[in-house]
Amino acid sequence: MERIYFDHSATTPVDREVAKVMLEYMTEKFGNPSSVHSFGRETRKAVEEARSSVAALLGAAANEIFFTSGGTESDNLALKGIAFANRKKGNHIITTAVEHHAILHACEYLEKQGFTVTYLPVDENAMVSVEDVKNAITDKTILISVMFANNEVGTIQPIKEIGQLAKEKKIYFHTDAVQAVGNCHIDVNELNIDVLSLSGHKIYGPKGIGAIYIRKGVKIESTQHGGSQERKLRPGTENVPGIVGLGKAAELAKIELDQRISHLTNLRDKLINGIQEKISDIKLNGHKEIRLPGNVNISFFYVEGESLLLNLDLKGIAASSGSACTSGSLDPSHVLLAMGLTHEVAHGSLRLSLGRGNTEADVNYCLEVLPQILERLRSMSPLNANSKLAANNPCSQCDHH
Ligand code: PLP
Repeated sequence: MERIYFDHSATTPVDREVAKVMLEYMTEKFGNPSSVHSFGRETRKAVEEARSSVAALLGAAANEIFFTSGGTESDNLALKGIAFANRKKGNHIITTAVEHHAILHACEYLEKQGFTVTYLPVDENAMVSVEDVKNAITDKTILISVMFANNEVGTIQPIKEIGQLAKEKKIYFHTDAVQAVGNCHIDVNELNIDVLSLSGHKIYGPKGIGAIYIRKGVKIESTQHGGSQERKLRPGTENVPGIVGLGKAAELAKIELDQRISHLTNLRDKLINGIQEKISDIKLNGHKEIRLPGNVNISFFYVEGESLLLNLDLKGIAASSGSACTSGSLDPSHVLLAMGLTHEVAHGSLRLSLGRGNTEADVNYCLEVLPQILERLRSMSPLNANSKLAANNPCSQCDHH
C-alpha cells in the first residue's frame, strides 16, 4: 500500500544532502571543535559555517545565532534566560493562550519563581490582537513572547506589529518560529524580532538540534553551566553532526523558500477546497489566508479525530488530530478551545500538514478516501443526529464526554 505523509508539522524527513554532510562529520571529521589541532579546527570551521547559514536564513548576523538541542530548549532559554537576567527591571511576561507547551510550561515554571504571566486570548481564527498586547503592557513588563505561526491550526500572528510595539516600549520580543522557519519569509530586523527559536527537524534537518537567535545587546543569562561553548550561553560539546545538518537544511530552505511556499500553498488550497466540496458539516480551523502554507486543520462534526486518524492510517495516510487523546490526556487541544470551539467540535479535528515531498496525487488520494471514511464513521456516530445509533447510545465512540 502507498504511504502518504501528511504530518510535517510533527517532523520532516532529513534531506539526503543533509544526511550526507552529517555522516561526514560523524565519521571522518569527528574532532571536538574546542581542540586546537587540525581535527578540531576543521569541525570548528564547519560549525561557524553552519552558524552563518542559519543567520542568513533569518537576516541575522552569525554571532547572534547560538545552537541548542531544539525548539524546546530555545524556548526555555529565551524565557528563563531573559526573565532571570532582567528581573531587577520587572517581573511581567506577556504571551498567548495558544503557544506550544515549551512556552506555556516554561511560563508556568516562571510563575512559581515569582514572575507574573499574562496569557492573551485569541479570536476565532487563533489570531492575537496587537491592541490586546498593547493593553497588557505594564511598567513591569520585560518580555513579550508570541509564536510566529501556530503548530496546530497554522495561523500566522501579526509579528511585525507586535515587534514594533515592543521596540517602542523597550520590551524584549521573542517569537517561537519553529513552524514558520523554512515556510515563511523571516527577516528579524524587518520584523522587529529580538529573540527567535527554531528547530532542525521541522526543516528537513535532524532531530535534537535547534538554534536561538539573540539580537546583539539583549540581556540574557544561561540556564546551564559548564564550559565556554556557544560563548558560555549554552555550554557543552557541540553536536557537530547536528549543527552541520541544521546549517545545510537552512541553506536549502533559503534557496528553495519561494518554491516551497508556492508548492505547499497550492496543495493546501486544493486539499481544503476539495474537502469543503466533498464533505458537509465541517469547520476549517485557523485563519483562512494568513496561515502556514502547508497547514490544513479541519473539524469534522459528529466524529472523533482519533477514529479518523486510525482509519486514515489504515489507508496509508499519516495525519494528526487536534485532541490529545493519544498522549493519554482526555482534554482536547488548548489551541482549539482557546479559539472557542466546543469540546465536541474540537475532538473531531484533524491536522494534515503538507511538505515539499507531497504531490497533487497525494492530495487526490486523500480526497478520495477521506469522504468514504467520514461517511462510514458518521453513519455509526452516536454524535450524529441522523445516525441509527444516536438515539439509543449517546456516546459509544468516545467515553470521555
Ligand atoms: N514550538 C513549536 C511551535 C513547535 O511546533 C515545536 C515542535 O513541535 C516546538 C516548539 C518544540 O520543538 P522541538 O521538537 O525541536 O523541541
